[in-house]
Amino acid sequence: MTRLLLLIPTTSYRVTDFLEAAHRLGVEVAVGSNRRQVLEKYSDGRTVTLNFRNLDKGAAEIVDYARAHPLKAVVPVDDDTAVLAAKASAALGLPHNLPASVEAARNKHRLRTLLAEAGLPSPEFSLLPVQDDPVRAAREVTFPCVLKPLALSASRGVIRADDEAAFVTAFHRIVKILKQPDVAALGELADHILVEGYIPGAEVTLEGLLDRGRLNVLALFDKPDPLEGPYFEETIYVTPSRLPKTVQQDIAAATRRAVAALGLQDGPIHAEFRINDHGPWAIEIAARSIGGLCSRVLRFGTGIRLEELILRHALGLPIESLERERRPAGVMMMPIPRAGILEEVRGVKEALEVPGATEVIITMPMGQKVTPLPEGNKYLGFLFARHDTPEAVEAALREAHRRIDVVIEPATAS
Ligand code: ADP
Repeated sequence: MTRLLLLIPTTSYRVTDFLEAAHRLGVEVAVGSNRRQVLEKYSDGRTVTLNFRNLDKGAAEIVDYARAHPLKAVVPVDDDTAVLAAKASAALGLPHNLPASVEAARNKHRLRTLLAEAGLPSPEFSLLPVQDDPVRAAREVTFPCVLKPLALSASRGVIRADDEAAFVTAFHRIVKILKQPDVAALGELADHILVEGYIPGAEVTLEGLLDRGRLNVLALFDKPDPLEGPYFEETIYVTPSRLPKTVQQDIAAATRRAVAALGLQDGPIHAEFRINDHGPWAIEIAARSIGGLCSRVLRFGTGIRLEELILRHALGLPIESLERERRPAGVMMMPIPRAGILEEVRGVKEALEVPGATEVIITMPMGQKVTPLPEGNKYLGFLFARHDTPEAVEAALREAHRRIDVVIEPATAS
């Protein structure tokens, strides 16, 4: 029987969607995760604990596992597991990206270096050790600039600075984030801060699937909320894009050049660009699919989900169509408005009465401590809409969100 190993960090939003896709395909699926699973002993090889920190060890564990349980594919669900999947697939002779390419996509400094070397539009950038003196560093920077960690996600720790004082404050703030236990686990990637020139322009996200180096564009999303900082809260994504066709073609071409510069060959691609008078500028090129629950906005062919498409591709199974359904659709990642304890979310019913609003999923448990950007990296939940036009989708998301009332009480100091 065809067996697939899914690499899923315990913190992932996407466990269910990937497992459901595997079940729909009728393949046997094993879950590799970074924490010992309570039922591992009894689950007859369907769960396996892997070292997600030491990737050579983790890859050896997967090879070991595959001896008793032969694997057709090792599929990562996010950035954190993409390098491990590449290493294990290489060792097992399965189709894969070169581990060095995935590593480069995961490391924002390496990404910038390779894109600049390939002649893609690039801002000035420099790498600062966390021990550096930010007051000195600030004197050498051109403003506005953006300071960011090398390997976090969901805009955590990404801060714009317009002057030396803001730079120094941002630097200290990011150093603190890098010392958080979950981040320090990144090892060397938590030792530096990247500083890059601020790139003005509207932002878009391209979802793609690479097949032996060839890019299939699955969807292009506009992000209609201005993202000008100082923190960069992702909110609304709407597809299809309202940008002129020629600009959309330029974005696809820039993605092709960027993935070639990194050497990525296989599997999902999530690329973010800013568009200005000089064309598309890459912000992020990741060897993974869209994060959170956002993939639920996408359907292909006769209704296939993105996760199924990714698994079909990984297993070499036929894919009926890579065409997204025609109806405009969108998602809002509901931001955390302030720090505290999440008590209640009101107005979900009223939000769903908005024409076009299709679903509200609150992912944050009640009673949980919540942290906004730039320290936080979680959303309250996800709001989905489908409508006749991208404008109507955007309006439905905004109105639905307006009707939702989030009750957050101050956390009492303990
Ligand atoms: P993450 O991987 O955590 O999402 P990114 O590097 O993609 O981090 O940055 C998050 C957001 O910050 C981007 O989507 C963009 O809006 C903004 N951003 C990052 N770098 C720049 C930059 N150089 N110029 C302008 N905006 C930026």
